[in-house]
Amino acid sequence: MSFSATIVTLFPELFPGPLGASVLGRGLADGLWSLSATQLRDFATDRHRTVDDTPSGGGAGMVLKPDILARAIDHVAPPDDPRPRILMSPRGAPLTQARARALARGPGAVIVCGRFEGVDQRVIEARQLEEISIGDYVLAGGEVAAMVLLEAVVRLIPGVLGGVDSHAEESFENGLLEYPQYTRPQIFEGREIPAILTSGDHARIARWRAQESLALTRTRRPDLLDRLEAEKRDKA
Ligand code: SAH
Repeated sequence: MSFSATIVTLFPELFPGPLGASVLGRGLADGLWSLSATQLRDFATDRHRTVDDTPSGGGAGMVLKPDILARAIDHVAPPDDPRPRILMSPRGAPLTQARARALARGPGAVIVCGRFEGVDQRVIEARQLEEISIGDYVLAGGEVAAMVLLEAVVRLIPGVLGGVDSHAEESFENGLLEYPQYTRPQIFEGREIPAILTSGDHARIARWRAQESLALTRTRRPDLLDRLEAEKRDKA
């Protein structure tokens, strides 16, 4: 069974969108992963197909109703469905490469996209939705966030990107940012490719890349180094 993603959304027509392009799209066509998007509104019970209501306690905007959302989730993922149930949410755990890797190894994901002010807290608890955020900013809806999550996950599914090794040295895979990359021409607007990269000395190249990676991480993302230190301490 290949990785299977099911999206619950008010805008199913947005999918696969960018996920249908390039290598992810080819993987989709080749059955390396699958995607379906379910219209939340189809699970409304009234004549107007209402999915939202005003926030209890007052305030601006609308909230997605728990009963309608639960019906949609139960339809696409019965209780014995082994896939994690995820809610895209700015309050969620920040998406990491580690979570993406773990999801890529699993059976897939059911992903709920919020809209308006978000979703009723009780359905999050009742359906044990794992809240995931793609960053500390607020989007208008969960659809683009779900695409970001899936793009990060699906490119890790074996066969989608081709070379198995192509992930090993990427940013975040070892807790660091990636070293700078170069390709021909040898001289671009007077700037040369660092000589070491054309030396053919693979051991020195590997050392240079490791140093660059560390230096870049130290200046741009010292928080990543702190995290590595903490992990090392935990292991010791
Ligand atoms: N009132 C909410 C924001 C609602 S934004 C709050 O302050 O927390 C509407 C929907 O967009 C959310 O339900 C969520 O599904 C999605 N969304 C917005 N920002 C997001 C983010 N940073 N990461 C993931 N999903 C996000």
